[in-house]
Amino acid sequence: MQTTLISVNGDRLNQTLSQLAAIGQLSAGGVCRLAYSAEDLQARQQVQTWMQDAGMTVRIDAAGNMIGRYPGRLELPALATGSHIDTVPTGGRYDGALGVLAGLEVVRSLHDQRIQLRHPLEVIVFTDEEGGMIGSKAMAGTAPAQAAEYRRPDGSDIQDCLRQIGGDWSQLHQARRTSAEIAAYVELHVEQGGILEAEDKQIGIVEGIVSLHRCHITVIGRPNHAGTTPMHRRRDAMVAAAQVVTALNDIAVHTPGGQVATIGYFNISPNAANIIPGRVEMEADIRDLSEPHIEALIAQLQAKITAIATATQTEITLERGMTIKPTLASPAIQAAIAQVCDQLQLSSCSMPSRAIHDAQEIGRFTEMGMIFIPSIAGVSHAEDEYSSPDQCIQGATVLLQTLLQLDTLM
Ligand SMILES: [Zn+2]
Repeated sequence: MQTTLISVNGDRLNQTLSQLAAIGQLSAGGVCRLAYSAEDLQARQQVQTWMQDAGMTVRIDAAGNMIGRYPGRLELPALATGSHIDTVPTGGRYDGALGVLAGLEVVRSLHDQRIQLRHPLEVIVFTDEEGGMIGSKAMAGTAPAQAAEYRRPDGSDIQDCLRQIGGDWSQLHQARRTSAEIAAYVELHVEQGGILEAEDKQIGIVEGIVSLHRCHITVIGRPNHAGTTPMHRRRDAMVAAAQVVTALNDIAVHTPGGQVATIGYFNISPNAANIIPGRVEMEADIRDLSEPHIEALIAQLQAKITAIATATQTEITLERGMTIKPTLASPAIQAAIAQVCDQLQLSSCSMPSRAIHDAQEIGRFTEMGMIFIPSIAGVSHAEDEYSSPDQCIQGATVLLQTLLQLDTLM
């Protein structure tokens, strides 16, 4: 099919991005708009007004999600888009905000031209993406059952938090949605990595959001005097641990595939300069789109660990920790995005998302797709996060045309 003549108003999109970035603006150009803060509340109020002015009805669900709905011509499940407007403490102007405001711009463009799609169109501001994703989790039915299990980074009580934005923890089940209500969800987001820039591509077509597996590794050696113990009589937990770090890195570097693996947590004891380390605790974080592939990597690591333990005369155990299942993007939506990019003559490539997004939860109950635009130098969750005005317009244009395609397909 052809792309239609409807287009987004790029100047208005970039102006709106600047207006939202002024709420919680930091001196170096970034934004601090922590979920549930005064700035977050102000930003939510502003977006609500913009949505209403664009012909949407707006409701707040029990999880505090703000749902703007633009009516369709037919009684069909909605097409949905959106993202989040909360930020990390020193965040950028684009992470989350772009997805929400591009969705708003899509509706504004339709409203300007008095066009309704076949489907109702929802623009969703998900609650607290950066602090635990209560909004998208409640919608998917994956939020913890007990409030005490829901740990926010600052330790605040989720029930109090939700109350401040018009939500209600005790009614959280009412926020749940199904594919009978939302036929497809497409989220535009900045890449937050450097692949598109390195590959010189304008648009990333997300294949899925990767699975994450954590492993807790404990090395037990023998603490002893650092002066009097000869080298050949040592059972140094730190020396063994260092080999485990290198082994995991080698596996991740040399195994074919797109996996990433990190040991970012390390705790050594007794942690004194004159004592041979007796115990080291480490946490490995391994991510890939394919869970069987992650299992194969962990099996390789386990084999190396056994060999390292023997060679260093230490005891090393690997315990499995938290896992997050991957969410694969809908092939039909990926194909629609690819076709739109071809028609618009925008270069594109398929890629996994190695960062977590609201789409990960929404994709658990309905067809999901994500569109990435480049992040300059791969910087995000930082004040100098940047995507150019043209890149933002390209992303919003692809979002609009993809939603138009899905409106005819679904
Ligand atoms: Zn985000």
